[in-house]
Amino acid sequence: MTKTVAVIGGGPAGLMAAEILAQAGQTVTVYEQKPSLGRKFLMAGRGGLNLTHSEEFEKFLPRYGAAEKFMTPLIESFTPQMLRAWADDLGQETFIGTSGRVFPKMFKASPLLRAWLLRLEKLGVQFKLNHHWLGWRENNLIFKYENKEVAVAADAVLLALGGASWPRLGSDGAWTEILQNKKIEIMPLRPANCGFQINWSDIFKNKYAGQPVKSVALLFNGIRVPGEIMITQGGIEGGPVYALSTALRDAIAQYGSAELAVDLRPDMTEEQLTKALQRPRAALSFTNYLRKAISLSSPAIGLLLEQPNRAELGRYSPPQLAALLKSVPLTLTGTSHIERAISTAGGIALSELDNGLMLKKLPGVFAAGEMLDWEAPTGGYLLQGCFATGAAAAHGIINFLN
Ligand SMILES: Cc1cc2nc3c(=O)[nH]c(=O)nc-3n(C[C@H](O)[C@H](O)[C@H](O)COP(=O)(O)OP(=O)(O)OC[C@H]3O[C@@H](n4cnc5c(N)ncnc54)[C@H](O)[C@@H]3O)c2cc1C
Repeated sequence: MTKTVAVIGGGPAGLMAAEILAQAGQTVTVYEQKPSLGRKFLMAGRGGLNLTHSEEFEKFLPRYGAAEKFMTPLIESFTPQMLRAWADDLGQETFIGTSGRVFPKMFKASPLLRAWLLRLEKLGVQFKLNHHWLGWRENNLIFKYENKEVAVAADAVLLALGGASWPRLGSDGAWTEILQNKKIEIMPLRPANCGFQINWSDIFKNKYAGQPVKSVALLFNGIRVPGEIMITQGGIEGGPVYALSTALRDAIAQYGSAELAVDLRPDMTEEQLTKALQRPRAALSFTNYLRKAISLSSPAIGLLLEQPNRAELGRYSPPQLAALLKSVPLTLTGTSHIERAISTAGGIALSELDNGLMLKKLPGVFAAGEMLDWEAPTGGYLLQGCFATGAAAAHGIINFLN
């Protein structure tokens, strides 16, 4: 007997579930509040669409931090290799970049999404766009559509509503209240893979906001991440910042601020820097001297001069200056707003879900994707997690309906 399944949320998690459910012969309707599907997925495509990562499971699974145990069986059932084969099957061959990250050869999401939606249509999946889910009334799902309320009955429901970052793309976190009213525990939604706030001086931010500081390394809690950081009006963002963001965010929550160290010349040892700084300064200004002696870029010099004791730096001995250049302290006072974060931490407490990702307190209602309480760094782990939880929820629904 065919059963009806309502998938709410047309992002990667919801669409993956819709595909598996339709292949299993269920009647599937995807409800999406935006006028088109997969908006955040398309945005991810702007950065090349890092679909997953090629590293071994021993390295891959710990990326999910506290949620590793929860994610392990889900990723084992929908592996990075399976994800690559799936993309390939949609005509989007993937490749492994030098960092081990996996991308489609086209480096974007739109051709993949187009082929995917075509496949879903052929499988008979219905799409109801501009349908904003409001919750339940009696046993019906209630949607707002063109200023009217529409009631929908379904044999099973999948919630795949995303997190709360980039709300203009659809995932706005408004679902938290609906589920809390049903006594579902929701861990607070917080920015993940996000930028941080720093109280820059006016001179520094006016000159360098929007500029990168290239080839640096960030150090926090014994972890060192090389890369390029971006100066913003209110702080910093960029790959190495995102990589440390969970630890930095949690430290700020606990202590009110966090001290991050920047190695401005990770390619030189302290001894090599000391030697290079022994070159006589002659009539050069301090900044020109740093530029000439150790090829320090202008934004890097700016960062160094953000130290409260900037007036004394010119009198530092070469070993003192070399030590500072290897570890320039920056005080982070908060995270950037969740609206600008790549992803969201927090969400439906994992203890609320059974093995098939059904909400134990709401039989027949399942959840998947970024709205669950797991987080991961950038590197393809986010999309892999969304696809894998979408697939697991689909299998959970099939078992439930049988
Ligand atoms: C700039 C950027 C770049 C990224 N790059 C990458 C990357 O390269 N690799 C990677 O792994 N990850 C990346 N991500 C993260 C990745 O895009 C997300 O983790 C993923 O899209 C989450 O999938 P999801 O299906 O759980 O939720 P979403 O993609 O957010 O989809 C949820 C859907 O639910 C809909 N919805 C929400 N509330 C309602 C409601 N009440 N009624 C009806 N519909 C509703 C939303 O409109 C949305 O379409 C990036 C994110 C951003 C912002």
